[in-house]
Amino acid sequence: MAGDVLGADPAIRAAWSRVRLLILDVDGVLTDGGIYLGANGAEFKRFDVKDGFGIAQWRRAGGLVAMLTGRQGEVVEARARELSIDAVIQGSRDKGADAVALCRRFGIDPTAAIMVGDDLPDLSAFAVCGCTAAVADATPAVRAAAQVVTLARGGCGAVREVIEALLGSRSEGIVAPGVPDGSVS
Ligand SMILES: [Mg+2]
Repeated sequence: MAGDVLGADPAIRAAWSRVRLLILDVDGVLTDGGIYLGANGAEFKRFDVKDGFGIAQWRRAGGLVAMLTGRQGEVVEARARELSIDAVIQGSRDKGADAVALCRRFGIDPTAAIMVGDDLPDLSAFAVCGCTAAVADATPAVRAAAQVVTLARGGCGAVREVIEALLGSRSEGIVAPGVPDGSVS
């Protein structure tokens, strides 16, 4: 777990303190990127329980969380249900557009959203979100584009690290988010 991944940059610290929506890529961020395929096509992924606890803390503090993935599968829905994730977008072909759509859904300015990613499709969401984080083993272009690179690898506590940084960057609870329009899936 990181001590303080935000470093000393006051601009980044201020931007992170305003975040209300945490947008998470799934493969390589919430998982180690491994996909286990059974002979019958069943798919398995390994999630990190520490990330799950961090997400619960973030939600308790009033934060919103969304999963945004280019893949499609029941595993993601199951994990999202387990963690009471506020919104899930699977099969995304344009994460930038989908990140904007998520912000609109919750009435949140994109500057108050953070995208956590590991690979090139995440860069379009980086371009529209006010805050960005890459996991330690993200592809180099994603690490270079991120405000913060976690010490932990994807699926190994990186999301927990981001949440601790987010919660540590503010002195008070998160301002209550706008009322969702009910179309959240
Ligand atoms: Mg990924």
